[in-house]
Amino acid sequence: MTSTDTFTPEQQDDATSFASLALTPALLENLDTLGYKEMTTIQAQSLPSVLAGRDLIAQAKTGSGKTAAFGLGILNKLNPAWFAVQALVLCPTRELADQVANELRRLARSTGNVKVLVLTGGSPMRPQIASLEHGAHIIVGTPGRVRDHLGRSTLDLSKVETLVLDEADRMTDMGFYDEIAGIVSACPKRRQTLLFSATYPDDIRRATDSFLVDPVEVTVQAQH
Ligand code: ADP
Ligand code: MG
Repeated sequence: MTSTDTFTPEQQDDATSFASLALTPALLENLDTLGYKEMTTIQAQSLPSVLAGRDLIAQAKTGSGKTAAFGLGILNKLNPAWFAVQALVLCPTRELADQVANELRRLARSTGNVKVLVLTGGSPMRPQIASLEHGAHIIVGTPGRVRDHLGRSTLDLSKVETLVLDEADRMTDMGFYDEIAGIVSACPKRRQTLLFSATYPDDIRRATDSFLVDPVEVTVQAQH
């Protein structure tokens, strides 16, 4: 048997390989460098829709890899040469926003100079305003602080192409609904909206219904 007859798993371009996705070569190479060999279940089920530009509601437990599920969607269409806020990720807490920003920076390593800026409460406004003046491609923030910046006109969301509501159930539980609704209305109507949640009860479904257009729904019950 010649070597061309042998079939190794590495050559398999199956549904759980990132290579099966329409990702840029730079992102694929970086995933390889990061040691992301296979997609997690939520990534495999949501990334094809995310990359096709669809709105999405994804339900999966903590640790299932939700950040890359939206992060790769953001980065795949982001233009680093255009210094505008092209994506906004809302998170319930400062810690989660920091975690998401760090994961986005890791995923973005190969894609040129992508500036990810964290806007959360508990930090002074002035340095955040200075950073915003320098520009950013992706904002990761908590609803209260992002709303504050909008109120002061220090943040322009008019170029946002991707809006992510991460841990939407927790944000709603924490009473952020009004802030989120205000932020959503400052984003363009034509955008991609991705909602991630560990749970998706009816009250959150009703509250967030108007933020999404014809969303694909993905639920992962089991462990990845
Ligand atoms: P969630 O938001 O669902 O709680 P995270 O996005 O924080 O989960 O991911 C959990 C961990 O798994 C992170 O450390 C991340 O770097 C890692 N991870 C995500 N996707 C993959 C993958 N496809 N292969 C290997 N590790 C991954
Ligand atoms: Mg997460």
